Amino acid sequence: MEKVDIIIIGAGIAGITSAYYLQKKFPKLNYKIIESRSDLGGTWDQMTFPGVRSDSDMYTYGFSFNPWKGKIIGEGKDIKKYLVDTAEKFDIKKRILFNTQVNSLNWSDNQWTIKTDGKDFTSDHVICCTGSRDYKAPNFPKFEGENLYKGKIIHTQSWGNEDFKNKHVAIVGSGCTAVTMAPAVIKEAKSVTLIQRSPAWIINVDSQEKSNRLYKTFETLIDYFHSRIFKKSYKKKIIAKYPYYNDTNVPSYNFWDQRPACSLDNDYFNSVNLDKVTIEHQGISNWEPTGVKLMNGKIINSDLTIMATGLNAQLLGGMSIFIDNNKVNINETSWYRGMMFSGVPNLFAHTGYINFSWTARCEIVSERICKTIDYMNKKNFISCTPKYLGKKSKPAIEANYVLRSMDKFPNRSYKFNNANYLAEYISFKWTRINDRALNFK
Ligand SMILES: Cc1cc2nc3c(=O)[nH]c(=O)nc-3n(C[C@H](O)[C@H](O)[C@H](O)COP(=O)(O)OP(=O)(O)OC[C@H]3O[C@@H](n4cnc5c(N)ncnc54)[C@H](O)[C@@H]3O)c2cc1C
Repeated sequence: MEKVDIIIIGAGIAGITSAYYLQKKFPKLNYKIIESRSDLGGTWDQMTFPGVRSDSDMYTYGFSFNPWKGKIIGEGKDIKKYLVDTAEKFDIKKRILFNTQVNSLNWSDNQWTIKTDGKDFTSDHVICCTGSRDYKAPNFPKFEGENLYKGKIIHTQSWGNEDFKNKHVAIVGSGCTAVTMAPAVIKEAKSVTLIQRSPAWIINVDSQEKSNRLYKTFETLIDYFHSRIFKKSYKKKIIAKYPYYNDTNVPSYNFWDQRPACSLDNDYFNSVNLDKVTIEHQGISNWEPTGVKLMNGKIINSDLTIMATGLNAQLLGGMSIFIDNNKVNINETSWYRGMMFSGVPNLFAHTGYINFSWTARCEIVSERICKTIDYMNKKNFISCTPKYLGKKSKPAIEANYVLRSMDKFPNRSYKFNNANYLAEYISFKWTRINDRALNFK
């Protein structure tokens, strides 16, 4: 068993950010990143569906320590390259152990034992950068008669090299993924039916827009607060701005309850107006040999059905966590600052925002983790454990994918404001590490 100071699990945006801040603060630190995939990038290594790109502006989605130099919205393959380049530039890539799945973590004798499907490790701290979704099982709604369908069904999370040229295609789903991929599929397919049971908010972004990180931070957050305070008038403003919205496709939820999907240079708005495109605002009843049957009885004939139905939330990469060999039920913990769990020592975990760039939160959390470890080193503390604050019913994040999986999340969060980057920025940067919510030993 190899001993290292810190283990990072996951080599996506959070893993790279954690590594950057750790080695900046502790240049002599012996750390390792364990990654189950064969390459780095996480989401941006896995997601290869047509048209895949960011929804956030890249000024805030890029790292502050290696600013993005491309256009405001990044294409998937360019984001992946940017992550690889960043990891190479800061000598992070050589620390990654690829093709290794972490199965469990056990805290005992003041250290973590990390069990993988290869070599095992021990470390003083573990930082989970495992993302927010189940990599193996996306949200794949099941309907009766799936085996009758003579066409092909594919989920965007496991896109291979699917050919849709001159095919009749159905895209199920209305979120960011469906909106992003639709124009690319429409371009080449013979016909496309978009099956959107519940429409999503879509806004346009001008690909030529030039801006900077500070401006975009304030613009996005002011826009967010405006939409939360003046919910009705904000909705009206969006509906008035885009002729696309009509009686059938105004979302039932408020703007920014979920990250709005973006149409780039009106690509979505223009392509759905083509004759070969139909939009159905209906749920699915069942599969038929030629396609799906909608709740209103209409059958959507297709050669290929693309499920753009989103993700299944998963914290901590599906790993089992043990304290002295006793399994921890994360649903019975409190979530401290959205980065630690009550009763679980020296385990940090990243999560992001739905209303702001994920990377921005990774950076402030990484800095806070470094400060916490530094504080512990200076005071000779071995462990740091958040206190349990008792149960509360409100979920920490109210996105659909979290509401679907509430039992996998802590039942209460504290000192955590997932909807407010500015509040967290101030709190993470300028409040005491020993903030009475942590027990140090
Ligand atoms: C299509 C798409 C577009 C998106 N666009 C945006 C956007 O514009 N703005 C935004 O803020 N967010 C966006 N997101 C959310 C996105 O997931 C995050 O922004 C970010 O990429 C997450 O980074 P991460 O490093 O935390 O996790 P991930 O990218 O999910 O990486 C986690 C890594 O951990 C590894 N891992 C997991 N479990 C284990 C284990 N047990 N053992 C070993 N390795 C493990 C995985 O293999 C993976 O490489 C988008 C998501 C998708 C799917």
